[in-house]
Amino acid sequence: MHIVSTIPQARALFEVLPRPLGFIPTMGALHEGHLALVARARDESAAVGASVFVNPTQFAANEDLERYPRDLQGDCVKLQRGGVDVIFAPDAQAMYPDGFSSFVEVGEMGTRFEGAIRPTHFRGVATVVLKLLNIVRPDVLYLGQKDAQQTAIVRRALRDLDLPVAVAIVPTEREPDGLARSSRNVYLTPEERAAAPTLHRALQALRLAMAGGRAKADAIAAARALLSPLAELDYLDVVDADSFEPIEELRPPAFVIGAARFGATRLLDNLWIDG
Ligand code: AMP
Repeated sequence: MHIVSTIPQARALFEVLPRPLGFIPTMGALHEGHLALVARARDESAAVGASVFVNPTQFAANEDLERYPRDLQGDCVKLQRGGVDVIFAPDAQAMYPDGFSSFVEVGEMGTRFEGAIRPTHFRGVATVVLKLLNIVRPDVLYLGQKDAQQTAIVRRALRDLDLPVAVAIVPTEREPDGLARSSRNVYLTPEERAAAPTLHRALQALRLAMAGGRAKADAIAAARALLSPLAELDYLDVVDADSFEPIEELRPPAFVIGAARFGATRLLDNLWIDG
């Protein structure tokens, strides 16, 4: 396995890997969720690349960029065990040199839900993903369903900008109590950790109530009641999977989505509704 930090080194190595090449972009602090993407890519590809980069442009000034968990050495061990061939781990200066000024504008989908709370987040995500794809040039990009709005926005951007890469969406890995695995779970206090699975339970209750024919507003009210008193809800809704527009019926393909703060930590979760 190779670990590279500059763009020319990365280009030279990725260029000569066998095809199809699968690629997994990450911000490191890797857990079983990331490794599910690696395993799927390993199964489906002749070679696998991954990136570890805490992307500053997707964090706002008041967010957790500085304290975001970092463990490059541990990440490399996990990626090597998972069968990754090349790891690209640049620093911010390599990705955003002085004078950097071009961004991917993601449009209205990037203004809803996560985008309403984090207005520049998806612009930063789409920009770094496109940069990484231009450096790595993979055949398949592996993304986690955990970040559902991110999958919709990236897929849209790749279609709109004609990037020749397929996208594979991998189901969310969860803790045994249902909490979606996330690098940010380490921020939770023991009380918040105990309360955090109520977000997943609220999503399941919302899905069940709507599948049973209840109107969305009623179903959301019933689901909210299942949240721990420690949870401050940002949103709970049902959206079309491609446009991320709210819909009134559980019409597939759709997501039941939710986000809540437990103390200083924001957690996201969703359920996929297919046919
Ligand atoms: P991140 O390091 O948080 O940017 O995540 C890198 C990739 O891993 C993204 O495509 C995420 O959606 C995916 N991912 C994060 N958590 C999970 C999880 N619990 N299950 C599956 N994929 C995940």
